[in-house]
Amino acid sequence: MNGQMQQPPLLISNLLIHAERHHGEQEVVSRRVEGDIHRTTYRELAARARRMANALKTLGIGQGQRVATLAWNGYRHMELYYAVSGSGAVLHTLNPRLHADWLVYIIEHAEDQIVFFDMSFLPLIQAIAPRLKCVKTFVALSDPDNMAGTDLPGLLCYEDLIATHGDQFDWPALDENAASSLCYTSGTTGNPKGVLYSHRSTLLHAFSAALPDALNCSARDAILPVVPMFHVNAWGLPYIACMVGAKLVFPGPSLDGKSLYELFETEGVTLSAGVPTVWQALLAHVEGKALSFSTMKRTVIGGSACPPAMMRAFQDKHGVAVLHAWGMTETSPLGTICTFKPSQLALSLEERYAIQAKQGRAVFGVDIKIVGDDGAELPWDGQSSGDLLVRGPWVVSEYMRGEGGNPLRDANGKSWFPTGDVATIDAHGFMQITDRAKDVIKSGGEWIGSIDLENIAMAHPAVAMAACIAVPHPKWDERPLLVVVKKTGAQLTREELISFYDGKIAKWWTPNDVVFVDAIPLGATGKMLKQRLREQFKDHVLPAA
Ligand code: AMP
Repeated sequence: MNGQMQQPPLLISNLLIHAERHHGEQEVVSRRVEGDIHRTTYRELAARARRMANALKTLGIGQGQRVATLAWNGYRHMELYYAVSGSGAVLHTLNPRLHADWLVYIIEHAEDQIVFFDMSFLPLIQAIAPRLKCVKTFVALSDPDNMAGTDLPGLLCYEDLIATHGDQFDWPALDENAASSLCYTSGTTGNPKGVLYSHRSTLLHAFSAALPDALNCSARDAILPVVPMFHVNAWGLPYIACMVGAKLVFPGPSLDGKSLYELFETEGVTLSAGVPTVWQALLAHVEGKALSFSTMKRTVIGGSACPPAMMRAFQDKHGVAVLHAWGMTETSPLGTICTFKPSQLALSLEERYAIQAKQGRAVFGVDIKIVGDDGAELPWDGQSSGDLLVRGPWVVSEYMRGEGGNPLRDANGKSWFPTGDVATIDAHGFMQITDRAKDVIKSGGEWIGSIDLENIAMAHPAVAMAACIAVPHPKWDERPLLVVVKKTGAQLTREELISFYDGKIAKWWTPNDVVFVDAIPLGATGKMLKQRLREQFKDHVLPAA
């Protein structure tokens, strides 16, 4: 017997319809590429998205065709999130920090028909345009005045398209499994691979991510996604905000501590989200000027491990709760998030910090497990570490065009996605990433977790950033080398930093050497490029023990 309930498809357009109808007056505030602050509402944004959907039709975009954006977080990008996916096309968010050759590769691989871009990326577009065979149209996310004299043949103006198209548009009743958006993995090993999200996966992810034990989003929130809209859909926040009717605040290209802090304060931001490297700049600004946060209540930190020292700064000094989260492009991205269970609330502060260093427990919808080299599941004892596998309705099942073959590991009819991360899971189900599989340091056949070693270094007051990598060792195969950026003006010697590890870890985990550098290379999504460091230091000679 079937249930007798309605079965409307789960569609991205429904999020915008809801936001317009039930939260029409709610604000969307953006710092624009032009530098000024722009204010709109969900009501206006929805009308403009319908105009843009009409424009896409005029430009010949049909269902399933790919439309790319090369843009910062802002209201026009948000309009495209809904206009493109809502009308049945696929929104392909391009990461402008990628090398031009990679951009050309993924635009061609995705067969993007149109590229919408912020004017600040004009030189990049001019450089790659002659190499793009699939792109028929370029549109500047601008009004006519700000693109005067632009030298790109056939370039269209976003605001002209909005002005010349009507705001009547019926969002099509798509299949909820239709592709809605596309994001390429960062490609640190091999070619970037395309992950195609569906309307259904996007909505289910948003429902789950908004829950109290996840991001805890509501209509009373003002959300500022620092995480770019080109990095796994800003972790779903542009969808979640419409779902709950939250105010949205977009920082545009200004991600420095001063600009972000100003927006947090002037717009009453309550929730933000980003990678640790961004928060470092913000904390440096806030602490340097003895400022405080008057409305910020919590911030999601993920993308790489959040150093406990950063957590303490946010929580103890500024009263901002840190939500440590783990996810990947392949998991939409939210997989786990660290919020306490009731039995943990009575623990000491130190014990709670030890829990918060973990990436947390699975949100409903996602399941996780760790397996050993033989594929057998490992116990949840907080000690055994193995390959982390995930599954769920917003976890990838196959890459765009079948690239790389079937990525899943099948056992007993159940498909698990191997994440490439190495992790432990404790008896409460809290997962902790010990390493990216390729970053693991293997010393005398035993693993040393580089993230633990980095977290300790980051707790030293003179350290701004630390990466721990394996370097070859004649006796132990590999030993840890710490690559460190000192805080401006700080004094620190190799010996002082090495003795800082005393009593904090097993003695044999202590890094064998420290090198001080001016900067650690970061990838397109703000993560440390350890592969590059390994190449740079492959001939490093460790001092005799
Ligand atoms: P991306 O697909 O670029 O978002 O990268 C996903 C990878 O980032 C994961 O497989 C992890 O290696 C890493 N990652 C994400 N969140 C965390 C976290 N909270 N702690 C440690 N690593 C993380």
